Amino acid sequence: MVTLLFGPPGCGKGTQAAFISRLLGIPAISTGEMFRAERESGTPLGKKVSEIMAQGGLVGDDIVNEVVASRLSRADCGAGFLLDGYPRTIPQAAFLDGILLKGPWSPPAIIYLDVPDSVLVERISSRRQCPSCGRIYNLLHQPPRREGVCDMDGTALIQREDDNETIIRARLRTYKESTGPLLDYYAKRSLHRIDGNRSPEQIHRLLEAVLGPALAQMSEKHTCCSNSRGLP
Ligand code: AMP
Repeated sequence: MVTLLFGPPGCGKGTQAAFISRLLGIPAISTGEMFRAERESGTPLGKKVSEIMAQGGLVGDDIVNEVVASRLSRADCGAGFLLDGYPRTIPQAAFLDGILLKGPWSPPAIIYLDVPDSVLVERISSRRQCPSCGRIYNLLHQPPRREGVCDMDGTALIQREDDNETIIRARLRTYKESTGPLLDYYAKRSLHRIDGNRSPEQIHRLLEAVLGPALAQMSEKHTCCSNSRGLP
């Protein structure tokens, strides 16, 4: 099953992507995480995107599309995948449509996590991440058990360099200008708008309600197709 997870920076995509990935047994692919990994490893791609990311801008469509196409061609995406942070522009969405048409997948489930700007700025400023396992904390609502340290592996938590208020506002502006039109693009298909201004657990329940029936429908289809291939 393919799932596209949308929402402005700080809406909780990372946390919910991990939840959906476990729920559906598919890899969660975050273009932001991929670019951060390239930047940290100092690869030519990482160097190219580093400045754009630091300013809260968008990496060029050609670069992002190439990175995503290469990732989706890997074997672990055969049964589906979740995309977090991609597509972010109409050309990216059109490019993804082309990949999905050629591949073995059904049309995607499209989810939008809706959160007001004021909440986003507060959330992002207090966001911290474990550089080792990637777990995300929020100093206000989901703090680590011991200050500044990851619950899972004891690594010192970091604040992303683009998680400060000036950059956050730039990222929200970029998001609205570039990604807002995507909602219109996908409105003609079944777009599930979910209230992201709730606790992670409440959002999990809402996601289960949306994705559960789609998942059941797909396994029914699978059984039906297996039977139509000559099984008794
Ligand atoms: P994110 O972690 O999704 O907020 O992404 C962090 C940064 O990576 C963004 O602010 C962009 O600079 C870049 N980025 C991630 N995904 C995309 C994308 N689909 N298109 C363009 N730039 C992206």
